[in-house]
Amino acid sequence: MDLSIIIPIYNEEANIPTLYQRLRSVIDPMGVSCEYIFINDGSRDNSLGLILDLAAAQSDVRYINFSRNFGHQIAVTAGLDLSRGQAVAIIDADLQDPPELIPQLYAKMQQGYEVVYAKRRRREGESAMKLFTAKLFYRILARITNVSIPVDTGDFRIISRKVVQALKQMPEQNKFLRGQISWIGYRQTYVEYDRAQRAGGETGYTYRKMLRLALDGITAFSDVPLKAATLMGFGATGIAFLVLIYTLFQRFFTTNSEPGWASLMVSILFLGGVQLIAVGIIGEYLARLSANVRQRPLYIISDTNIAVPEAVERG
Ligand code: UDP
Ligand code: MG
Repeated sequence: MDLSIIIPIYNEEANIPTLYQRLRSVIDPMGVSCEYIFINDGSRDNSLGLILDLAAAQSDVRYINFSRNFGHQIAVTAGLDLSRGQAVAIIDADLQDPPELIPQLYAKMQQGYEVVYAKRRRREGESAMKLFTAKLFYRILARITNVSIPVDTGDFRIISRKVVQALKQMPEQNKFLRGQISWIGYRQTYVEYDRAQRAGGETGYTYRKMLRLALDGITAFSDVPLKAATLMGFGATGIAFLVLIYTLFQRFFTTNSEPGWASLMVSILFLGGVQLIAVGIIGEYLARLSANVRQRPLYIISDTNIAVPEAVERG
């Protein structure tokens, strides 16, 4: 098998037929053996029905049906786990990632790269809020991690079997694939493209899911927030110490009998805030630590037409 194409699906009934057609019309002329892996991530519409129809009609269409919605990163992970291609392409189902770019990505890979990611030159039809938060996130991430995760890049990319193999050895629960792939190393390069609007349906990435992905990315690749908590603690203590000296000075060396209510309130509020932030940051890491200690399988497959290796079945 030369190529596996991994397509996570969450409520994409409006896009599946066009997507599949466009994929076929660019992949078929490439003359490579290819499998299409659709992962139904607990869709509530007729996506599964459409996928099952495709799988029944075409022997190179495979599907993985999750028992519920596990999220985009996990859906892609399941696809990677069950893929067999020497090269594996990851693509969104909503046609924001143009299938027509895959031959370019594939060609670049043949020049000896293990990872070829698609870098967004422009993003169309997305809310100013989404563009702003995404931009901010990529910049912050680049600043505070020591893995160089390329900015303005999603999961649309092609990776080699070597990289898939390496990913399988990274069983963390909180997946941030683009970070993990950067961390793995090897020769990586990119191809630029203009990101289109979503063809049909609506985004499955709520702000809540985006925030979770952002926190997963940051906590998995940076200890800076934890250290920032310590710094804030020192800073706050330092300020509190100055206030203490000032208060004592006022009490013993001046006749000014001001009750000091203001300074008291300021320091209590300030310290309270800093403590809550610090505890919150620790909580974020701790939650992820405990998720990993539990060692649950990442996902539960309800049914699939791929022969599931026993290792995956056990999770
Ligand atoms: N997706 C998924 N599970 C989810 C949310 C999204 O598998 O819980 C899929 C979705 O069907 C699409 C891809 O992930 O193929 C990207 O999602 P979306 O286009 O909604 O995200 P956006 O482009 O708005 O960031
Ligand atoms: Mg999208």
